[in-house]
Amino acid sequence: MKPDRSYQGLSLDTLAVHAGQPPDPTSGAVMTPIVLASTFAQERPGQHKGFEYSRSGNPTRKALEDCLATIEGGKHGLAFSSGSSATAVLLHTLRPGDHVLAGDDLYGGTFRLLDKVMRPMGIGSSFLDLHDLDRVRAAITPATRMICLETPTNPMLKVFDVAALATIARERGVTLVVDNTFATPVLQRPLELGAHVVLHSTTKYLNGHSDVVGGALITSDGALAERLAFLQNALGAVPSPFDCYLVLRGLKTLGVRVRAQCATATTIATRLEQHPAVERVYYPGLASHPDRALIDRQMKGPGAMISLVLRGGLPAATAFLEGLQIFSCAESLGGVESLAEHPAIMTHASVPEASRSALGISDGLVRLSVGLEAEADLWGDIEQALARATR
Ligand SMILES: *Cc1c(COP(=O)(O)O)cnc(C)c1O
Repeated sequence: MKPDRSYQGLSLDTLAVHAGQPPDPTSGAVMTPIVLASTFAQERPGQHKGFEYSRSGNPTRKALEDCLATIEGGKHGLAFSSGSSATAVLLHTLRPGDHVLAGDDLYGGTFRLLDKVMRPMGIGSSFLDLHDLDRVRAAITPATRMICLETPTNPMLKVFDVAALATIARERGVTLVVDNTFATPVLQRPLELGAHVVLHSTTKYLNGHSDVVGGALITSDGALAERLAFLQNALGAVPSPFDCYLVLRGLKTLGVRVRAQCATATTIATRLEQHPAVERVYYPGLASHPDRALIDRQMKGPGAMISLVLRGGLPAATAFLEGLQIFSCAESLGGVESLAEHPAIMTHASVPEASRSALGISDGLVRLSVGLEAEADLWGDIEQALARATR
């Protein structure tokens, strides 16, 4: 794409291939070069081509940051060495005495950051089911600076109303942060719904090939972006140029991957719901999902994460996970390969037992990340593992 071609009116699939990545001006290379240099020559002190030192800025990272901002519909993108470091940098915009209101069904590491790292530094937090907007209004105190949520949530796949929460946040002068890792900008557009900041673990769908750990923040608020860029440099949690290149490469197929994964996951979730070994299925694509109307309004597709409760509790869940042959038993999600995991033992072990059972994270709960393998092969794998689990 010509460097001066406007992005106006172009769809995500086009932007994911081209945004921030015009052909290299020195060689014409159509793929973004991996610039490994840690430092950049200055013509005279203070006069340079926009890059000084690779912690404060790097050309490969800049291409990724511009592409991420564009596909999320934001003005500013910042890339980090992990989703957790993106979260940590964001929380460093707060001061002792400030308060964060967070969703109750969060990525375990985000809960751990709020509870074990920020709380001892004087930044309070409370956790709430964000469905009840009156309870949300009541939970915002004069100290509340930020509302942080994931939707769909992890692992219960609840869906929260971003537009309604954005209205409350704006009325009360609070920053609304949406972790869009599960939905991706292909399915959900938080900034267009009124959120101030989008957070990603690029480790998951955005990179999509399970070979990078990375994170991102996207916003259209110039003053906040400036503060975040200052903290990105000051705290130093930046991704390597090679990792930036890999995420850029993964992004090019984001739309195709996510749509195919949604289609396979919909078939699998529908069949799981009818299977006698399965007590309950949580999936935003099912007619039975309690947030059905909101999902249809807020999301362009249901995603490819499925949680299910097996009849028979822990022994059944363990036998199922051991029996899977195509799905790997592993943490993480969003890659081309299908994964299965046990939230109570694996991803959500850092969430206290009492909160886990209040949320519904029972010993029979298993979470699936549906990849790009053939639907028939994945269903065959699930069926034989369910048969083992009920034996
Ligand atoms: C994985 C994940 C994170 C943390 O990202 P890392 O890249 O593992 O540090 C944050 N939020 C969600 C929803 C995640 O799935």
